[in-house]
Amino acid sequence: MVILTSPSELQVYLKQLRQRERTVGLVPTMGALHAGHASLVEASKAGNEVTVCSIYVNPTQFNSATDLRSYPRSLEADCRLLEEHACDAVFIPDNEAIYPEPPRTRLHFGELESVMEGRFRPGHFNGVGLVVSKLFHMVQPDRAYFGQKDLQQFLIVQRLVTDLSFGLQLVRCPIVREPDGLALSSRNARLTPAQRGVAPALYRALDQAREMLRTHQGVAQTKQAILGYFSGLSGIRLEYFEIADGEDLREVSDLRNHRHLALCIAAYLDEVRLIDNLLLTNPPDPGA
Ligand code: AMP
Repeated sequence: MVILTSPSELQVYLKQLRQRERTVGLVPTMGALHAGHASLVEASKAGNEVTVCSIYVNPTQFNSATDLRSYPRSLEADCRLLEEHACDAVFIPDNEAIYPEPPRTRLHFGELESVMEGRFRPGHFNGVGLVVSKLFHMVQPDRAYFGQKDLQQFLIVQRLVTDLSFGLQLVRCPIVREPDGLALSSRNARLTPAQRGVAPALYRALDQAREMLRTHQGVAQTKQAILGYFSGLSGIRLEYFEIADGEDLREVSDLRNHRHLALCIAAYLDEVRLIDNLLLTNPPDPGA
């Protein structure tokens, strides 16, 4: 695997690929890689001749200095995992390479960022939009791979690609979970054993909500049940649980007229913030 740390090294590497008309897949990450990231690399390898993974903890998408400082970093193990999955190249830029000057450009995504992650993490999607745009310009991939784990981020990047004519194909990859349902996340590494025991509550809540909707219980009743579920748990604080339209993430009050539903959740275990979601076809499949 080729390790590239500067944009100029990246350009030299990509130039010889383009001369040979190789298709390139990009997997943007913030490192502390796990099997969820590996699934994106595998998807990229299946769809492209060359896969480039980027590892960069992007400061502009953090709205809490503590969260940025304590974000797990494990470059050596990350490179080993990427080698094991036969990733072709890893791009590991530093802050100077990505932000030679403090960015003054601001990106706004309208209603799509007024809910959930955008609402509770002001400025987050501006930072995501900036770094993703920069990576798209630097790598100019044919395809870019993102996880459904960050559903709102995926929809935001979809907007960005359309609105700024990036001319690449976005691929959304399914959420990889632990056997007990907990979605894999770099932040799981920060959980104490006791918190790790409580963390599957996010998935259990989503599963309970899916079952309630499948059995025709209403939106308000379902939300109420999820609030009740969390109020009975200790060591975990629900930040939001939303039932939203799967395409634009607008809050749903009436289940009719939505082709897909997104059940989205965020919760804190002490300082560690976890998110998860389920996408359902609507009306829910009776066997789902
Ligand atoms: P991150 O390093 O957390 O910024 O994530 C990089 C990419 O991996 C994003 O597109 C995430 O949605 C995706 N990802 C993170 N966790 C998972 C998971 N459990 N399953 C699938 N994709 C994931």
